[in-house]
Amino acid sequence: EAKTEIIAVGSELLLGQIVNSNAQFLSKQLAEIGINVYYHTVVGDNAERLKQAIKTAQERANIIIFTGGLGPTKDDLTKETIADVLGKKLVTNEEALANIQDFFDKTKRVMSENNKKQAIVLEDAEVLKNETGMAPGMGVEVDGRFYILLPGPPSEMKPMFTNYGQQFLIDKLGIQDKIISRVLRYFGIGESKLETDIEDIIDAQTNPTIAPLASNDEVTLRLTAKHTDEAEAMKLLDEMEEKINARVGEYCYGYEQTTIMGELKKLLHEKNLTIAAAESLTGGLFSEQLTAIEGASQIFKGSIICYTNEVKEQLLKVSSGTLENEGAVSAACATEMADNIREITGSDIGISFTGVAGPDSLERHPVGTVFIGISMTDRETEVHEINWAGSRNAVRTRTVKFGCHYVMQ
Ligand code: ATP
Ligand code: MG
Repeated sequence: EAKTEIIAVGSELLLGQIVNSNAQFLSKQLAEIGINVYYHTVVGDNAERLKQAIKTAQERANIIIFTGGLGPTKDDLTKETIADVLGKKLVTNEEALANIQDFFDKTKRVMSENNKKQAIVLEDAEVLKNETGMAPGMGVEVDGRFYILLPGPPSEMKPMFTNYGQQFLIDKLGIQDKIISRVLRYFGIGESKLETDIEDIIDAQTNPTIAPLASNDEVTLRLTAKHTDEAEAMKLLDEMEEKINARVGEYCYGYEQTTIMGELKKLLHEKNLTIAAAESLTGGLFSEQLTAIEGASQIFKGSIICYTNEVKEQLLKVSSGTLENEGAVSAACATEMADNIREITGSDIGISFTGVAGPDSLERHPVGTVFIGISMTDRETEVHEINWAGSRNAVRTRTVKFGCHYVMQ
């Protein structure tokens, strides 16, 4: 059974100057190919302590992955120390040397003696090519344990591991399975409700596995399937997705890294519809997020940021009667805002946001009272009233997400 320890070498890590994101990245990658990570260790640029860390790792792991300390300077001592502990010689690798020379030629600089040191590798090691830097990585098997050495800079470490390091392990461990995962994104359903709705499916999971994760008002499910045949693994994912979404599919809005705003933009584009916004409480946040997406001009007409009652009345033509009798934080005001922005801009859809973001209450409404209006050509304008707790920022960002969600319904 594979037991992995990741040893990050670097005094900056211990000083709190940088975060050990390398360990996080590697752990994720290893989990995807079904390799267990048991320990994360961080050690400074110190030969004695690194030696100690290696010996400890040897007692409890059979895959040891190092990041950092492969550079040309004095404080870079990872491979020298490992060579020492393993009783291995260090030898110059011609291919790595050529790669470094190439790097200098391209940047029209002269290679120093120091840089030649980077082409030195552990004898018998498989060299892992560095496509984005100079120091080569290494993979070597000694006494039934696998050692992988990777550079510190994430821009070098990541491609080296995904392109070569991972394959080294797959080959050495004889991993036959293809592992693929799919992320399903849900909105408008809480984590506990979603997990309860599919509890029996989660309890019975084997292949694919199901990993729920909640963040920023959303829940994601990562499905991971293993199979020697990639098409079969894909089929397992399809079947599991279908089974889950037969129950909670109405909340599923997309896959992988997408956002609700991104999906809204896509949908409007597909249906050839335009939208405009009247933003009070959100102060332009909806428009900002929508226009951050490429191609938004095809579906977004514009918005009026109507923070005060005067602007609501004068620019957006909300009736003074509504503002006086019902107030700006009301279903009636949200309706007029949505209807009027749609008409003023000649859009297919008008969306409005009004409410109390806090910290103080307004018009006797508590903080977190929000009205979202949605006006469309061929149906009655709908208003969603929401009441929630949270900081000013949380209320505003949530409101925008819910606005997108309601338009897509
Ligand atoms: P170089 O040739 O750049 O010296 P190296 O392999 O010797 O590379 P280090 O000197 O240990 O690596 O680290 C170089 C830089 O890489 C650090 O300054 C830091 O920005 C980044 N780095 C190192 N280790 C980590 C880590 N564990 N997580 C995230 N970033 C890291
Ligand atoms: Mg270095």
